[in-house]
Amino acid sequence: DKPSYKWQRVLLKVSGEALAGDHSQNIDPKITMAIAREVASVTRLGIEVAIVVGGGNIFRGSSWAGCSGLDRSSADYIGMLATVMNAIFLQATMESIGIPTRVQTAFRMSEVAEPYIRRRAVRHLEKGRVVIFAAGTGNPFFTTDTAAALRCAEINAEVVLKATNVDGVYDDDPRRNPNARLHDTLTYNEVTSKDLSVMDMTAITLCQENNIPVVVFNLNKPGNISKAIKGERVGTLIGG
Ligand code: UDP
Repeated sequence: DKPSYKWQRVLLKVSGEALAGDHSQNIDPKITMAIAREVASVTRLGIEVAIVVGGGNIFRGSSWAGCSGLDRSSADYIGMLATVMNAIFLQATMESIGIPTRVQTAFRMSEVAEPYIRRRAVRHLEKGRVVIFAAGTGNPFFTTDTAAALRCAEINAEVVLKATNVDGVYDDDPRRNPNARLHDTLTYNEVTSKDLSVMDMTAITLCQENNIPVVVFNLNKPGNISKAIKGERVGTLIGG
């Protein structure tokens, strides 16, 4: 009998910043390999893993909009393209250690990756493949956190696991305030009313409306990704 874990299908959100670590290039291959190894360990247990990657390590639309006449939509399309680069890097890393992985993009780049087709993504997951969703939602003015919430709802994944460079959600900025306290749990309303910088408002309300719990955790601690995926307590759990 397969042991049963808390979640059968998860949506792992990896931000661009997390992929960069403190590497001087945009991506730290040690981090992508660590992600690949931990994801491999849980797919072997039968847990289905879909991933949404960010692109902030390469290009963030909001920081460039307005420069040299670059409008927000164009800047955001460049940002979405950045997520595709991260996705292909991560796919190659996963496949190098034998994890079958498909990339699906929110807009067509069919020479590079499959287009996003919901039922096909689900089929890949059922076959034990990892699916990486790239190009965010495919729309400017959104974020990859919103893409994570959206894809999670669409493919009936049970949780958004947000891998970051911090241990979870604090009551103050831990880099400035050494006494900042880590929250174990939070409600959606606490996140929005206290304006805690967990996810943007669109992403968190989408999770709330669809009763999708969110776990915010540190991917730099060895073992944390697999713990989060197996439903062990790490970081901050947002729900209810
Ligand atoms: N982006 C977008 N629509 C989306 C997702 C992303 O326009 O649905 C663009 C936006 O410019 C964003 C960039 O892609 O700044 C990179 O994504 P994000 O900032 O969410 O990446 P992360 O912070 O996770 O690295």
